[in-house]
Amino acid sequence: MRFSVGLTGGIGSGKSTVADLFAARGAAIIDTDLIAHQLTAPGGAAMTAIRAQFGADFVQPNGAMDRARMRELVFADPAAKGRLEAILHPLIRSETEAAAQAAGGAYLVFVVPLLVESGSWKQRVNRVLVVDCPEETQVQRVRQRNALAEDQVRAIMASQASRANRLAAADDVVVNDSDLSNLEAQVDRLHALYASLAQTSVPKAS
Ligand code: ADP
Repeated sequence: MRFSVGLTGGIGSGKSTVADLFAARGAAIIDTDLIAHQLTAPGGAAMTAIRAQFGADFVQPNGAMDRARMRELVFADPAAKGRLEAILHPLIRSETEAAAQAAGGAYLVFVVPLLVESGSWKQRVNRVLVVDCPEETQVQRVRQRNALAEDQVRAIMASQASRANRLAAADDVVVNDSDLSNLEAQVDRLHALYASLAQTSVPKAS
């Protein structure tokens, strides 16, 4: 596997924004959330197994997973959550690897919202990059972006790793508490670091 960065951060921290800035500088971006969505979209590679495991009630007429219904089920039933993950995780892993094999770019940036929570990702990447901002800022951004109530945003944040745990897992941190030009300056520095490490590092076994 080529030199790779695992980019993570809480909801609304600015992962997508930061990933776009790395892409503009020549990194290859592999978004695991997007891959997970595609697997459960109409005709997605996980849909046959999801229908077989959970029944037609969890599949919409267009063939996509019924996300709202599945979210309710896995929230209430940890065993069901485990069954869903047993279907999705190996597929996400293989699709992610295929995307990495096919990618160009100076190095790879995997965007993994739950990197700190998931364990195995930390071993798969050369560096963990955390996008950090105050919790109040996360709440404000997500409320604006998704038109959610404050308690809904806080419930999602409570289901994710704490800010402190995430920072403890970081090799590098982007502090996204200011404007875009400040963010660009931080990404410029990190891009220079990663581009040089990509030339000298021993590849990770995949
Ligand atoms: P994530 O991918 O971590 O959920 P996003 O990159 O989507 O976060 O950012 C969340 C929202 O906040 C988006 O609407 C984005 O445009 C906005 N945003 C991110 N960083 C900043 C910033 N530094 N200043 C203003 N708005 C920002």
